[in-house]
Amino acid sequence: RTAPRPARVVVIGLGRFGGSLAQELVAHGSQVLGIDSRPAIVQRYADDLTHAAVADTTDETALRQLGVPDFQRAVVAIGTDLEASILTTALLADFGIPNIWAKATSRQHGRILGRIGAHHVVLPEHDMGERVAHLVTGRMLDYIEFEDDYAMVKTVAPAQAVGVPLGQSRLRSLHGVTVVAIKRPGHDFTYAAADTVVQEGDILIVAGRTNQVELFADLT
Ligand code: ADP
Repeated sequence: RTAPRPARVVVIGLGRFGGSLAQELVAHGSQVLGIDSRPAIVQRYADDLTHAAVADTTDETALRQLGVPDFQRAVVAIGTDLEASILTTALLADFGIPNIWAKATSRQHGRILGRIGAHHVVLPEHDMGERVAHLVTGRMLDYIEFEDDYAMVKTVAPAQAVGVPLGQSRLRSLHGVTVVAIKRPGHDFTYAAADTVVQEGDILIVAGRTNQVELFADLT
């Protein structure tokens, strides 16, 4: 099998969010063009990214000169400067870039970005705040909620689940949850199987409806 062609991504705004995102993309084998209006920021990322350029991305000519219209994927990681975020996103949409991700700092900002053509809007601070709220009040070690009220949690195995093979534990019928993976202290995660016997201290990854996985994680 031939290796897949690396994805090419343009990341606009190399602040905390955009900078981390761009570096992570490079670490995963993508080719990244990073653009920021501050020369010092661009300088900082020059060695890490495939290309890094200083430009005001509200300037259509500057974007064209950098070849931005040829990209299939773009991330607008400008947050605080609302006007720059909106104008940049609108230009990318006018170019017809098929996958535009945009960072918003508020729900209203996010709605506008969606209206003017962003295909995916992320609200990192809101989303992280919501996620951490679930961790602060519950016994969960980690938590991710998908749409339609479906979630996965990482939690210490409750006593009810200990000592019985998962296939016989009736966790699905009693609690509405499915154990997806299991980690014994000092070992890596492995898939959970019907004959897996949970031991005290095991860490579980559990999937199910949000309220059901939360209730399950609160069992002791
Ligand atoms: P974070 O909270 O992730 O650091 P910021 O909104 O503070 O996000 O930073 C976004 C980045 O976007 C900054 O580095 C800023 O220089 C850059 N930026 C802002 N406006 C423009 C623009 N018009 N063109 C290019 N880059 C911009």
